[in-house]
Amino acid sequence: MSDNCIFCKIVAGEIPARKIFEDSDLIAFHDIHPAAPVHFMIVPKEHIASLADAHARHEALLGRMLLLAPILAKDQGLNDGFRTIINTGKGGGQEVMHLHIHIIGGGNLRAL
Ligand code: AMP
Ligand code: ZN
Repeated sequence: MSDNCIFCKIVAGEIPARKIFEDSDLIAFHDIHPAAPVHFMIVPKEHIASLADAHARHEALLGRMLLLAPILAKDQGLNDGFRTIINTGKGGGQEVMHLHIHIIGGGNLRAL
């Protein structure tokens, strides 16, 4: 747990979130400011500041995060597909410095 980290506080149950999944390593919850009709995040319970701060020992955890994305996307009704986004660092537009994967969908997404 990192002090003053909003996602650590959600993991600890200190601030509320609309959770859609939780196990011993991961939590997923809806984004408070959705950028699409469906917008949720997959978050490791361990405080890893960003993808640039992940190490080889996180390999399985990162794999689990990615494999969970299509399962939860389907649970949320995204049967046609979805977009995954990981913002990393200032240059990547990351605002919450606790690693997370955004999953968005349910609308017309512009091709990248
Ligand atoms: P990023 O720019 O990738 O760091 O994205 C951070 C995301 O966290 C933004 O989309 C915010 O809307 C979202 N967010 C911030 N605070 C909360 C919160 N308390 N509950 C859910 N989502 C949040
Ligand atoms: Zn944190």
